[in-house]
Amino acid sequence: MNFNLVTIFPEVTKLFDFGVIGKAIEKDLISMNSLNPRDFSKNTNKNVDDAPYGGGEGMVMMAEPLALAMKSIKNKGKVLLMSPQGERLSNTHIDGLLDEKSITIICGRYEGIDERFIENYVDKEFSIGDFVLSGGEIPALALIDALSRKIPGVLGNQESFKNDSFENNLLKGPVYTRPQKFEGKDVPKILLSGDHEKINDWKILSSLQRTIERRPDLLDSVKLTKKQKKLLDNLLSKRIL
Ligand code: SAM
Repeated sequence: MNFNLVTIFPEVTKLFDFGVIGKAIEKDLISMNSLNPRDFSKNTNKNVDDAPYGGGEGMVMMAEPLALAMKSIKNKGKVLLMSPQGERLSNTHIDGLLDEKSITIICGRYEGIDERFIENYVDKEFSIGDFVLSGGEIPALALIDALSRKIPGVLGNQESFKNDSFENNLLKGPVYTRPQKFEGKDVPKILLSGDHEKINDWKILSSLQRTIERRPDLLDSVKLTKKQKKLLDNLLSKRIL
């Protein structure tokens, strides 16, 4: 998958020099193409912002440099704008983007972007939460990371993301590693038993329990196996008693 990132801070992609995404770039599973709207500004100072019509605080990103940056991209694919006013980004959205060959992500700055650019060039706006950041770069990197780790070959073990939180609308249960005892707390005994079936049941149960405790809303659209359903019914009846 190719990502075109339109940002006045293209250096942010350096974050992907590390970890699994860095390796995926090395292996050509994903590619990053950054475009700086300043390079397309016709202004002698290479400005990309101007004062808002009608007055008000701050500056607004001008439509023209962004539009020229867009016109220079050969394979734009879906064009996404990171915006606090967009639809809240979820695992379902990420899955819906997995078949795209190319995705273009616009990072806003200042007070936002001239609305006419958004109307003419953007397919969808995504928010990463109900708060305001100073730029769209962190949200864009979050989207690229979440999407990339689901591309076949990116994670060492392709199955590993399938047990992650939000796959099948469940949270993952707690995880433990050495040492067996830490500050007076033991690892749950079952995990040391070597009984794979019982360990698997424990993992299902702890995932259900965690989802009930922290995100009961997710259970409205969960699709459970017979075993998961039995364990969930058991858990819920215990909570009622
Ligand atoms: N004045 C705008 C408003 O109130 O809606 C906020 C502008 S914000 C300071 C600058 C840029 O950061 C936005 O154009 C957007 O690209 C990005 N941004 C800020 N918060 C975001 C969020 N929660 N999700 C996605 N992008 C966000």
